[in-house]
Amino acid sequence: MHQNVNRNVTLQPTTDGVLYVWLDSELRSVNVFDSGMLDGLESAVSHIAANENRYSTVIFASRKAGCFFAGADVHSIARLQSAHEVLAVVERGQKLMQCIDDLSVPTIAAIDGMCMGGGLELALACTYRVASNSDATRLSLPEIKLGLLPGWGGTQRLPKKIGVVASLDLILTGRSLRPNKALALGLVDQILDVAPAFQTPWHDQLTTFVDSVVDGRFHPDDRRRDLLARFLNTTRLGRRVAIRAARKKTSKQKQYPALQEAIKAIELSLASDSNSGYEFEREAFARLLFTPTAQSLLGLFVQQDQAKKATTWCEFISPLEVAAIPRKVSVIGAGTMGAGIGILAAKKGMQVVFKELDESALKSGQARVESILDKQLQRTAISAEAHRQCNSRIQFTTKFQDLDDSDIAIEAVLEMNEVKQSVFRNLDHELQRDAILASNTSSLSVTQISTATGSHRRPRIAGLHFFNPVDRMQLVEIVRTEATSEETIHELVQLVRTMGKTPIVTSDKPGFLVNRVLFPYLGEAIHMVQEGFSIPAIDREMRNFGMPMGPLELLDQVGIDIAAHVAQSLLDCLYESEAPAVFLHKMAQAGWLGKKSKCGFYDYNKKRKAPNRQLRTSVAKADKVRVAGDEFLEDGLSPVQRRLVYPILNEAVHCLDEAVVQAPWMVDLAMVLGTGFAPFRGGPLKMIDSIGAKPFKSNLTMLEHMHGARFKAADGLGWMAKRNTKFFSFVSNPPAKENHNEPRYRTHSQL
Ligand code: NAD
Repeated sequence: MHQNVNRNVTLQPTTDGVLYVWLDSELRSVNVFDSGMLDGLESAVSHIAANENRYSTVIFASRKAGCFFAGADVHSIARLQSAHEVLAVVERGQKLMQCIDDLSVPTIAAIDGMCMGGGLELALACTYRVASNSDATRLSLPEIKLGLLPGWGGTQRLPKKIGVVASLDLILTGRSLRPNKALALGLVDQILDVAPAFQTPWHDQLTTFVDSVVDGRFHPDDRRRDLLARFLNTTRLGRRVAIRAARKKTSKQKQYPALQEAIKAIELSLASDSNSGYEFEREAFARLLFTPTAQSLLGLFVQQDQAKKATTWCEFISPLEVAAIPRKVSVIGAGTMGAGIGILAAKKGMQVVFKELDESALKSGQARVESILDKQLQRTAISAEAHRQCNSRIQFTTKFQDLDDSDIAIEAVLEMNEVKQSVFRNLDHELQRDAILASNTSSLSVTQISTATGSHRRPRIAGLHFFNPVDRMQLVEIVRTEATSEETIHELVQLVRTMGKTPIVTSDKPGFLVNRVLFPYLGEAIHMVQEGFSIPAIDREMRNFGMPMGPLELLDQVGIDIAAHVAQSLLDCLYESEAPAVFLHKMAQAGWLGKKSKCGFYDYNKKRKAPNRQLRTSVAKADKVRVAGDEFLEDGLSPVQRRLVYPILNEAVHCLDEAVVQAPWMVDLAMVLGTGFAPFRGGPLKMIDSIGAKPFKSNLTMLEHMHGARFKAADGLGWMAKRNTKFFSFVSNPPAKENHNEPRYRTHSQL
């Protein structure tokens, strides 16, 4: 018999005294802690507390396939306005978890699928945790990625379960654990064979587990740790050493205050007065939520959700008119990008056919694909079963005829217009009439490529620009030509989302969005190298700014030849971009292709990379280096950072002016996901908002006088500086054409 507590929580007592608490967020595909779920759980837990002797065990389980709990409702957290409101939410959650912890009947969290944030905090409040060995099962406390710390007792209960060392690692990185790792750490007590929680086999296994608990046969195994881990976790001195080491390791990351707060909270979890830790956790959460870092990261999270909705990018289309996720995907070219794209599609359950040029290229492509999959298996990024299934979905061919029943073809061959056009001509001929043809080009015009096909095909053609490395980069630019249909965009957004990536739809302009905004920055770094600035110093300054790597390190990673191609394609739309383009071209001709040739801006032949000395002597005139600083209005940047970052910010405004994308948040999200642009700053346009359009423009003008026309302010900036407006301050509106009473750009109040 089921008893509805509310629309999110149901109680199901069984004849053998077990009570299931079923979690099922109303109208959502995953469980989240919104007010409905909290109401339901509070009522359920009060009912259990009042009737404890009626039950032998209580099991919390989810009705959602592949999800125990996705965590708190981040959208509603992002909307909280005052510390008072935040404290109320945190206190409520802490109290609920404490009530679960206080129950005298044994409680079990039956985790099948993702178990994140508040979901893991609930599981930690239970007496036991069992997890399915499904590929979807992952446990994490990812709050740090939003600039926060776990607020519902996670920092207090986790160290007691798995020790300080592993807790510091999990909470400070926010990384997720697969079930076997969670078992090894003692975070889960048993792994059960895969079966959705609501099916009988799972119930039978749970019953066996419950019996062993009730009979006293079950002893959680926490003795698997080595001596050092035991010393660090169990002795006072060891714990102090671990905490001090964590502080030292994170001391330079001042932009992420949540790290130090989380370390302090974990330290307090070991204090004899347990309340002080919970109190600190609550207050730290409220303090952190309104820091610029957390606000930026929460904003990006909300934007990412927005980007995954097809209606953000195209008109509403009835589901009947939109094709389902492709069953069969052809990938043309099994090189660096093609291999990554095809593997991703196969992992998500699609049939994949790789088409290569000839038998010899096919052999290398096949070896590349197999080696990537094997490495993923070794790293345990995929299970043995997923590896087997993936392999069984992948085929290889050299014939276009074998692709005829594909729903979509993704082309990833050489970056040459004629080669791509020839591929498109063949695809147009072989594939069914409504199949989508997509190009992964990073610098060519998709419109131009599409002219190789018949006019009936053009609405089904778009760019699908993945970033390298495909498995790690979150962003995919979907490039819309004038002819691309709404249905095509809709289907591609669905496909990208299914592949676990975030789409940004751009217009078919040179460099699309990310490369276009990024290149002026890379170009400026090259100008500086030519002027004699030190290569490592340029990179160091940008890492200090918050970039994952410096611009010259990035160029080496991308490949100097590829960067030279992109530079060439942008010549017509970027001021003074010839010099860096020529420089890159010369480097490529000299064979300095970056990391792949072991030499680029750096020499990679020794153990530690060193600046390329030949390059250095050919350009350096150290006495000419001039770093100006004093004349500028305050913007929180060093002179080198200002010179390198301002081109990104200015180009971002140019892209809005030219409608490469429609709204400021799209630029910001794309730059953070596509280039790692310091996430705590929220993106280039958010950064202009925090500097102020007026001082930013004034500094740009100064740079223009010092270094040239490439620093000329974008039109939109003049407009904004005059009216003293911000990109992210006004309510959503369609883009206005030079109507001075309306915002210049379409913004979104929530984004
Ligand atoms: P790559 O040289 O590693 O691979 C290209 C593959 O295409 C090779 O295996 C080649 O044998 C195959 N090929 C060539 N002509 C073919 C044909 N007619 N039919 C079938 N196969 C053919 O190149 P890559 O780095 O994977 O780049 C592929 C595309 O992706 C390019 O358009 C590039 O601009 C774009 N891209 C590359 C990166 C990157 O960082 N490498 C990033 C984003 C986009």
